[in-house]
Amino acid sequence: MKNTISEGIGMQKASRSDKALNDLKADLHIHSKEDKADSIKYTAKELIDKAARLNFDVLSFTFHDCLFWSNDIERYAESKGILLMPGCEKIIENCEVLVYNISKEDFRSLKTFDDLRRLRGKKRNVLVIAPHPYFILSKTLGKNLERNIDVFDAVEKSWFYCRLIDRNKKAEEVAEKHSKAFIATSDCHYIENFGKSYATIHSQKDILSIVDAIRGRKVKSFSRHISFASFFFNSIRIVLHMLTKLTKSTKPTKKNK
Ligand SMILES: [Zn+2]
Repeated sequence: MKNTISEGIGMQKASRSDKALNDLKADLHIHSKEDKADSIKYTAKELIDKAARLNFDVLSFTFHDCLFWSNDIERYAESKGILLMPGCEKIIENCEVLVYNISKEDFRSLKTFDDLRRLRGKKRNVLVIAPHPYFILSKTLGKNLERNIDVFDAVEKSWFYCRLIDRNKKAEEVAEKHSKAFIATSDCHYIENFGKSYATIHSQKDILSIVDAIRGRKVKSFSRHISFASFFFNSIRIVLHMLTKLTKSTKPTKKNK
């Protein structure tokens, strides 16, 4: 799919703003079938259809270490009343970091937290969220979150917690300690999970206003703990999913066979 993301995309959107302040229903951490790092069954358009049925206003497709954008998807979302925010789940110093409103060139040169620091100094619309920072599996931030807290605007409230096991607690404490927004997302990999964990952002419906509202913590999170049975089932599903990804990434391609 042709990637037509441009340098100042977040700024361009600002001119299209609806003037009214609303509680915008948003999910800023989503994957779909077009994310080649994963084996996901639903397409971006199928996800947008579901989001429209659930009255979402703002979405961001945040693929694994890949900046996904197409005019076709943007127009499709727009036709359903949904604003797309360009984003990605970028690997920075071996940690997953949600970064929004960057260009392809920014994406390519972004390798360290210092790169991110410099980029934020240059571009006001660059938004950064810490995804599932204290989870055990995957490339989570852990201690790197507080070491680099100045480059983060918000901390994610993950959908994946139950009464007994809740890795969000520490994330919420850190968000509170550093006066950052604590924002719920779905980190959607399975379409049935979409819509159960999301946030509302009190903002005008344009990207720069949304970025400012998140920085100002004008965010409400809507997310409930899942049952222990569901937590257990999803733990197994996540481990299997990661093993599939690992097998996929170590499989020899035609070129290097
Ligand atoms: Zn993710």
